[in-house]
Amino acid sequence: MTPSQRIQTITPSGDNGWELFLKARDMIAKGVPVIELTIGEHDIRTDRSILDHMHASALGGHTGYTAVPGIPKLRQAIAARVQAKTGVSTTMHNVLITPGGQMALYLAHMAACEVGDTALFIDPYYATYPGTIRAAGAVAQSIQTHAANDFQPQKSDLEAAARTARSLLINTPNNPTGSTYSPETMNMIAQICQDQNLWLISDEVYDTQIWEGTHISPRALPEMQNRTIVIGSMSKSHAMTGSRIGWIIAPEDTIDHLTNLATHMTYGVQGYIQDAALFALNQGSEFETEIAAPFKRRRDIAQKIIAQHPQLKAISPKGAMYLMLDIRATGLSGKEFGHKLLDEKQIAVMPGESFGSSAAGHIRIAMTIKDEAFAQAIKTLCQFASELCHG
Ligand code: PMP
Repeated sequence: MTPSQRIQTITPSGDNGWELFLKARDMIAKGVPVIELTIGEHDIRTDRSILDHMHASALGGHTGYTAVPGIPKLRQAIAARVQAKTGVSTTMHNVLITPGGQMALYLAHMAACEVGDTALFIDPYYATYPGTIRAAGAVAQSIQTHAANDFQPQKSDLEAAARTARSLLINTPNNPTGSTYSPETMNMIAQICQDQNLWLISDEVYDTQIWEGTHISPRALPEMQNRTIVIGSMSKSHAMTGSRIGWIIAPEDTIDHLTNLATHMTYGVQGYIQDAALFALNQGSEFETEIAAPFKRRRDIAQKIIAQHPQLKAISPKGAMYLMLDIRATGLSGKEFGHKLLDEKQIAVMPGESFGSSAAGHIRIAMTIKDEAFAQAIKTLCQFASELCHG
């Protein structure tokens, strides 16, 4: 039997951007001591107190089916959090709990797009974006951006593409670039969504990791509340990647339909995970600052080292846990450089090409190992790249 075309075409030609990461994992499994700066996962584990709470909840009997849209207390807590951060009136009826931000991204496109509609996303992009859009039956179309503009989309590019599109997916703070969209960019995006009648899907999973400026949620901009779907997650903010817990914020009727969809897909999220998420949210912003702090520290460490290598250019991250490095002076693509670095120095990074053509000739470094080891890895990496520039 042949699997459906729909499932076969989620990622073209089997290359989904994870090749170098998988190669590194394979080397590690064979005992090679690879330094991994690939995926966005903290070097700390989920806090013990959260796990204790999860354990107690499960032992206390919260192991049965839960309400499909999520337990009311967690939905209320997320609504209150969103309202406090954005000033936009938000109730639990605007919130659907999902098994992670990734599922929320898929559900958001299911809510926004008809089969065959064009769904826009910004290049460079988080590696799953085009596949997620295709999985939801829409046509994925990227908007190119440039390092010179801090990887922010430009009005003329967006306007042209928006005419035939149904939705636009944005991500600020951004993975992989670390850029955060300026108020001007956000207002421009909001205006285009209104003029062209687009849904705006705003991936805000890094909203607690801001190193410069402030985070703007476009749902808070005038006239945007009813056309914006916000994606949230506990993965990055609370170091809970493996718990798979996230959410969607959307207009009430959209949440109702999404609840219906969730009924036919996931049938809810584990009660003990939701209880743990609620406990984690109740730890307040100090806890979130503590989880985010290492990335800010490492960003400063890396920038100092990179500054000593004039041929390499770091794109100064304003948020999130990544650093993009322009390695075009080596004459190699990001992919070629990544393989060479892994083969010769046992350091694994993600090639920029995994995140789209706008990031070609760059590598993405996840700032996810302890400070000292990180500093050493960046020194080795920069030395290696600089020698290639001379050679
Ligand atoms: N959006 C972005 C931009 C991401 O980087 C990630 C994970 N790396 C996700 C969404 C999904 O996160 P999760 O499913 O763990 O909540």
